[in-house]
Amino acid sequence: MTYRIRPLLLGEAEVPNILDVFWSLSTDRERSSVPFLGFLILGAKEGPIVIDCGMRDPRRAMEIHRLGPHTCAPDQSLAAQLAIHGVKPEEVKTLILTHLHYDHAGGCAQLPNARIVIQRSELMAAAAPMGPATLAIGGKGLFYDRADIAELVDSLWERVELIEGDVELFPGLQCILYANTHTPGHQCVYIQTDIGTAAIVGDIARKIDLNIDQAIPPAIYYDLESMRRALADIARRADRILPTHDWNTLSTAVIG
Ligand SMILES: [Zn+2]
Repeated sequence: MTYRIRPLLLGEAEVPNILDVFWSLSTDRERSSVPFLGFLILGAKEGPIVIDCGMRDPRRAMEIHRLGPHTCAPDQSLAAQLAIHGVKPEEVKTLILTHLHYDHAGGCAQLPNARIVIQRSELMAAAAPMGPATLAIGGKGLFYDRADIAELVDSLWERVELIEGDVELFPGLQCILYANTHTPGHQCVYIQTDIGTAAIVGDIARKIDLNIDQAIPPAIYYDLESMRRALADIARRADRILPTHDWNTLSTAVIG
C-alpha cells in the first residue's frame, strides 16, 4: 500500500529568518517570504486525505500574531488548490492537523465532510495558550487563533476525532505525537510512498539543512530536549522530509 502526495499552496507570509533557528544561535536579521503549505494524500480507499488547511484570514493573522505581511491569492484557496488535482472539498473524508497554529488550522470548515484528526493534548493547549499579552510576536494567543479553536469545540465538534499518542490511521499512514516540541501536542504524519517513507513534519523542522542536517532546532519550541529528540527521530525514520514553510517542499512533495 503506497500513497501519492501533492502539496497545496495555501498562502504566503513575510517572516523573520530567526524563526528557522534556535534564537540564541541566530545572527540572521533578514526577513523572507515563506509558503503556507497543506498536503493532499491520494490512494486511501476511504477517499482523499488533507493534512493542514492554511489560515483563516491574512489580515486577521497580521493583527493577532504580529508577524509580517500575509497573503492568500484567489488561486491559493483550499478549494482552488484541491481543484488542481481534481478533488472537490466535499470529497475529502479526513483532515489531519499537525498542530493548531493559525496557519495550519484556519480552513477546517471548508472541508464539510471531513473528520478532523487532532491530538487531544494539542487542543487542550490551544484552548489555554501560555502567551503573555505583551509578547511582540505571537501575542497572547501564542499563534493560536481563538476563532479556530472555538469552531473546533463547537460547530465542528461532531467531526473532531481526538487521538492520544501514536496512531496508524490507515495502513501505511501513521500519526506520531512529538509532545512539547513546536507545540505541546504536535504530530507528524509518516506516509508510505513509492520512494519510501515521507514525513509531513509540520513546523518541527523548517529547513532541512539547518534543522535536520545540522540538528539546530528552529526557534519556536516548548522543550529543547524533546525538540532535539524529535528532529533525530524524524531524520532516522524518514526517506523524505516535508516541512511546511520551505519553498523546496513545493517540488519535493510531489510523490507518486
Ligand atoms: Zn506554521
